[in-house]
Amino acid sequence: MAPLKAILFDMDDTLIDWSQGDGSFHQLELERFQSVCDYLVGLGYTPPSPAWLVEQLPQRAERAWKIAHETLISPHLPQLIMDMLFEAGIPNTALDVPTFIEYYGWDAAPGVMPFRDVPPALDIFVQHGIQLGIVTNAYQTAPMRQRELKTQSLWHYFQHCLITAADVGRLKPHPSIFQAALSALNVQPHETVFVGDNLVADVLGSQRMGMKAVWRKVAHHHYSQATQESILPDATITDFTQLFPHLDAWFPAWR
Ligand SMILES: [Mg+2]
Repeated sequence: MAPLKAILFDMDDTLIDWSQGDGSFHQLELERFQSVCDYLVGLGYTPPSPAWLVEQLPQRAERAWKIAHETLISPHLPQLIMDMLFEAGIPNTALDVPTFIEYYGWDAAPGVMPFRDVPPALDIFVQHGIQLGIVTNAYQTAPMRQRELKTQSLWHYFQHCLITAADVGRLKPHPSIFQAALSALNVQPHETVFVGDNLVADVLGSQRMGMKAVWRKVAHHHYSQATQESILPDATITDFTQLFPHLDAWFPAWR
């Protein structure tokens, strides 16, 4: 019987509960764009107004995600915004991605927290020497989402493996994003369990790789009957404490 070496998690609505945001996102977005624009003004450029950028971004993002869901080629938020700036007359040479991220900043959305059952379960996995990783379909880069994880006191669990679709260039369920995590932790699929809330991206994607796939069912999501009938997780949980008996059955020596 294979040992359990790693557990990989989706991030949003698996580790982080997005049902509790406080709605201040728009104001924060304005402040982020103001910071980028101030930087560009300081270099002698004439950027568009932060308000215009805030207004444009959702439409651009929606278009990019529509294509992405068809192709599984991931959008890239910094690149998307830098393209908008380019179209508004700011040359490509004005900003590189790390500089953009430095001024744009990023952090946890106010009011959005980890699910309460998450940190105690992660502590137990760490105590038993299980490696942990995140595989997210986020269009932010890893350094951006790392800031959120630090604010939410989760970063120390995932510092060896935080894989975002923006960085890999592919979205779950594409195999290459899962493979990036397996390579980062130097583990094989049959030694790995995946936990996620999305039946297609997380459950189907990880099962195709040869991992055990756990569906984290979240109360504030609606799942179509057809999807639920066609994709069968190896286990379904509503709380991380429910993971333990499944791990005991699949990997009897894990604890
Ligand atoms: Mg999710």
